[in-house]
Amino acid sequence: MPGTSRLAVALLLVVLSGCGRPIPNTVPPSGYTPYAPAPNPGSSVYVAPGAGVIDQPIDSGTLGRVQRATQTPAQCEAELEAARVTFSPTPDRVNSETCGLTAAGVLGPDMGTTARMAPSDVTMTCALAAAVSVWRRQSVEPAARAILGSDVVAIEHMGVYACRGVRNDSGETSRASAHSRAAALDFSGVRLRDGRRITVAGDWAAGTPEARFLHRIRDEGCRVFGTVLSPDYNAVHHDHLHLEAESGRLCR
Ligand SMILES: [Zn+2]
Repeated sequence: MPGTSRLAVALLLVVLSGCGRPIPNTVPPSGYTPYAPAPNPGSSVYVAPGAGVIDQPIDSGTLGRVQRATQTPAQCEAELEAARVTFSPTPDRVNSETCGLTAAGVLGPDMGTTARMAPSDVTMTCALAAAVSVWRRQSVEPAARAILGSDVVAIEHMGVYACRGVRNDSGETSRASAHSRAAALDFSGVRLRDGRRITVAGDWAAGTPEARFLHRIRDEGCRVFGTVLSPDYNAVHHDHLHLEAESGRLCR
């Protein structure tokens, strides 16, 4: 009967239309190679290898670019992945009223370069991991090659995550430090492939090429990190550079 077949066609059309189920957006972002696997399944953020902030030389726009590129964990993780920096996100954690981890992870080796963190596998915010990665590739490594004629094999540090307040010269603590959010790295020096070890404590004020190297990476660090504190700031920083990804615009 014609009436029955019209009904069957109508029912078939309803079935074929998926009963109103939303069709997933399968259109790739521009610049995306169709046959490349999606780096972050389920994420809409894609950064092409070699095109992210970690691969761009430092200039007056670097700090803004890093901050924009690390606004969300997905965006930040895509930047690290595109640059072949190993970063494993960790669950958010609250240790006290002023101390805990949000959007943090473990920074592993940068597979695109030679310098390794020592100690390795450091827990920090993704934003700090991205800033450290920019600084390592675009400042620390080229400055060592240019001024000291050797590659950096280790970036030595005194840690990132610590539940403590900001120390002043007399050692008292006041407001919570960026370290209580794993958002600052205390850099103490580097080891070079030729065996030399350069430290903030021993080489900062020496007037040598080693001192020039340390001052250059401090100055360039100010274009990557929101806050950089060196021995020029106060006695508490006589042996390290405090490198903080968050805004603040303090550089000394
Ligand atoms: Zn610090």
